[in-house]
Amino acid sequence: MFDLQSRSVLVTGGSKGIGRGIASVFAKAGANVAIGARTAAGLDEAVAALDGLGAGKVLGVRVDVSDRQSCAEMAAAAIDAFGGLDVLCANAGIFPDAPLATMTEEQLTEIMAVNVHGTFYAVQACLDALTASGAGRIILTSSITGPITGYPGWSHYGATKAAQLGFMRTAAIELAPKGITVNAILPGNILTEGLLDNGEEYLASMARSIPAGALGTPEDIGHLAAFLATREAAYITGQAIAVDGGQVLPESLDAIVT
Ligand code: NAP
Repeated sequence: MFDLQSRSVLVTGGSKGIGRGIASVFAKAGANVAIGARTAAGLDEAVAALDGLGAGKVLGVRVDVSDRQSCAEMAAAAIDAFGGLDVLCANAGIFPDAPLATMTEEQLTEIMAVNVHGTFYAVQACLDALTASGAGRIILTSSITGPITGYPGWSHYGATKAAQLGFMRTAAIELAPKGITVNAILPGNILTEGLLDNGEEYLASMARSIPAGALGTPEDIGHLAAFLATREAAYITGQAIAVDGGQVLPESLDAIVT
């Protein structure tokens, strides 16, 4: 059961944070793992760290997911290296702060391009290979922010993360006859390089609002991604699953038991 050894996986945004955690779980399970990101140095460092975790190959590919052609080239590189592709983790995303009253058109356009268009382009680029797999898996990294919760400065971000779920529900129907499942993971607050930019005060206040008492790790997300990628998860599709230490459950901070 749960054998990922013969599976080939592509993780966008795999050089850091949640994507790196997802990639490391797949690498340890023996899968072939390709990671995509914009920065060559970040990719090189991540590939060196992932290489040797398991028996599979590890590949770094430069990509800007907001560019359709760049996504096509990323997918081609992974498919070429591994002889096919079974799993796409469309994870790359940005979460800059922009209060609604002062948000510019450029800020809105940029986040839509990376988080929404990037999801479409990555999925489209991998479709033929995922179909050929016979047990293709698409795993989106959405968020609790947007689909379930809100946070000041993230109205545009929340809209993109909710948009991924709208995409998922129709994609899951269209791709089911091809044996491809499409599911979304909704991380709560996961300690990543990107989240660290929000500062100590943000991190401490988030930890206080989580029943589990601490932020999550990138590997917490990777473990669910790995399960959704298995052949045994074939009957799970179109689902949005929160991995958040119970963060969305309390009605107030007083509801948290310490
Ligand atoms: P992170 O630490 O900032 O890492 C982001 C990764 O994405 C890096 O590998 C980055 O590499 C890559 N990336 C960014 N823009 C890209 C682009 N245009 N094209 C290709 N790659 C790009 O972020 P994270 O916290 O791990 O977040 C990853 C995903 O999880 C995002 O979709 C985010 O919305 C979601 N999420 C995070 C949290 C959290 O608590 N951290 C919670 C909920 C959801 P380069 O900069 O080199 O391109």
